Amino acid sequence: MTLERTTSVKYLKGVGPKRAEALARLGIRTVGDLLYHAPHRYLDATTVTPLARASLGSEATCVGRVVTTGVLPTRRGLRVFRAVLRDDSGLLECAWPGQPFLERQIKPGQLLLVSGPVRFYHGRQLVPREFIVLAEKDEDEPGRGMILPVYPATEGLSHRQIRGLLHQHLDVLLPLAADPHPDALRARVGLAPLRDALAAVHRPATLEDAERGRRRLAFDEFFDQQLVQARARFLAKRARAGIRFALKRELTTRLKETLPFELTGDQKRAVREITDDMTAPERMHRLLMGDVGTGKTVVALFAMLLAAENGYQAAIMAPTELLAEQHHATLTRLLEPLDLRPELLIGRLTAAQKAAARERIAAGGARLVVGTHALIQESVRFHRLGLAVVDEQHRFGVEQRAALAEKGDAPDVLLLTATPIPRSLALTLYGDLDVTQLRERPPGRGTVKSALRTESARARIYTFLRGECAAGRQGYVVYPVIDVSERADLKAATAGAESLKRVFAEFRVGLVHGRIKPEERDAVMRAFRDNEIQVLVATTVIEVGIDVPNATVMLIEHAERFGLAQLHQLRGRVGRGAAASHCILLSDAAEAVARLKTFSETTDGFAIAELDLQERGMGELTGARQSGGIALRYADFAKDLDLLETARGVAAGIIAADPALGRPEHAAYRERIVQRYERGFELFRVG
Ligand code: ADP
Ligand code: MG
Repeated sequence: MTLERTTSVKYLKGVGPKRAEALARLGIRTVGDLLYHAPHRYLDATTVTPLARASLGSEATCVGRVVTTGVLPTRRGLRVFRAVLRDDSGLLECAWPGQPFLERQIKPGQLLLVSGPVRFYHGRQLVPREFIVLAEKDEDEPGRGMILPVYPATEGLSHRQIRGLLHQHLDVLLPLAADPHPDALRARVGLAPLRDALAAVHRPATLEDAERGRRRLAFDEFFDQQLVQARARFLAKRARAGIRFALKRELTTRLKETLPFELTGDQKRAVREITDDMTAPERMHRLLMGDVGTGKTVVALFAMLLAAENGYQAAIMAPTELLAEQHHATLTRLLEPLDLRPELLIGRLTAAQKAAARERIAAGGARLVVGTHALIQESVRFHRLGLAVVDEQHRFGVEQRAALAEKGDAPDVLLLTATPIPRSLALTLYGDLDVTQLRERPPGRGTVKSALRTESARARIYTFLRGECAAGRQGYVVYPVIDVSERADLKAATAGAESLKRVFAEFRVGLVHGRIKPEERDAVMRAFRDNEIQVLVATTVIEVGIDVPNATVMLIEHAERFGLAQLHQLRGRVGRGAAASHCILLSDAAEAVARLKTFSETTDGFAIAELDLQERGMGELTGARQSGGIALRYADFAKDLDLLETARGVAAGIIAADPALGRPEHAAYRERIVQRYERGFELFRVG
């Protein structure tokens, strides 16, 4: 039979029903899937250490033939599998404590690659962290260089077997890969031909070779994704007839004149971008991203006033009552000179107050509305909602954000977030949003000093905190877990609060965490805001929301347990007033010193977001690897940002020139996307 990309793998020689099943578990059903099954790493056997030169105390990678094997018990009853390897330089013993079963896998005559520390145990002994059987007893050493791809494997199918399959069939599989890119584009972007790339990934001569191959495949992944997003943006823009606000310069100008401060350059730029969006005929769909304290609320207020001076209502929805109250207070203050009074709608108002607020909203008397989820309840009707602002947008579900927008007739949408994300992520996660960043901080704020301390400094830290409280200030103490039952080895918030109550007997100590009822939590937060509580013990529930300018100390216990972005959010809780503030990271974890030090020295949220991304990789970031419905297998955000940018530009150009990918030279793109992307068909159905 002739092989096609969609031919089932079971027709390949060497693949029986059982292997086909195992391959299916890896997502490999067709021969095309097999061809695209990428190694997740490589072993570089070109830099192996001769057995005789594997020195004590070092980490070594060695290759040798197995001479003898055996299982020996130790005095403590542990059974140790041992194998002696030989190469031209000599012999070396390897030992696998507690793994006697390896006797069935590792046999004399095999060529073995081992990698691990060399220790002293009746002589030199390598304790492999991993090993690979490179060749069986009578087989020659694997040819073609010694860069060994290691494939994601599964039960019943080892990476060696997968490597074997690919080696055996690669030459007939490669011709099945059709390069979707026209030569001209490939030349312009500097892409390797697809077949070369796949060959390099599976059968590299050098590590650089493999990396070049991977980059080409990564480009294609980004490119598909960006084509999909460019298309989605195109359709959305077309479908997104919105309100065309006029530049009346009435309320907005008066706000500018009466504002007690000068906008930062970034704020001015953001207001300009939003104004451009709102005065355009399409609907605005913009994300305003900036660290806490960069002044997003004022920017949003300009947008709200632009809607209001055009005879529309504007609403801002916040995730907690406290935040909503805070916004309401800010807006009330800033709008006073304009004779405008914002409406507040939150759950804790009395029924009568709520009814009255709803009435004013429905009648249109309430021009600017601040609220919580209460705004999206069915009973709420707007007279004429022209702008929906969602603060801390990631705290709301997609439906909730949409629900607010649906309270109007295609209102403009502005999303706010204090969680800066790297540009790479923004392009991927929010490919169909326009993004504005605020990086600059308004002047006149107190600085936040960060310090890394160990347990031995605890008494001094407490003295410091006591001093701040005595001077009328407040502090947070954050723990990684609620109570010790979660992790016996970690200090916990509940126990911490108890002990701090004793230590700070002359002050009031409060406690909030995720298992305390929202109303109670709100009550404690309010008390802290009003300085009835001086020391607030918490878990990361305080990450978002509360603005207490009087708080000047953020003490984080077990700082090593937190992600960098999370630490940054916590740090953002202080330094909100004019006084100098302190973020103290407490950690005895030696392995975390470097990253925590870096954190202490970095203040820019976007830079920290980049570091956080590199640290955690993409996998952990919700949905990111699945962004746009296309899983990323080759691309690595930490390394490939340039590829992403290029892919984005190229894709946008193609969609601009040929929105439905109808031209013959784009047929291959269209086919790939319809095949691979769940919404592909829908997106490209229409001509
Ligand atoms: P964010 O929501 O981005 O964390 P806010 O909008 O709450 O920040 O602003 C934080 C504080 O900074 C508020 O008290 C606000 O009035 C003040 N502020 C905003 N912009 C400026 C500015 N340009 N100059 C001085 N203070 C500002
Ligand atoms: Mg805010």
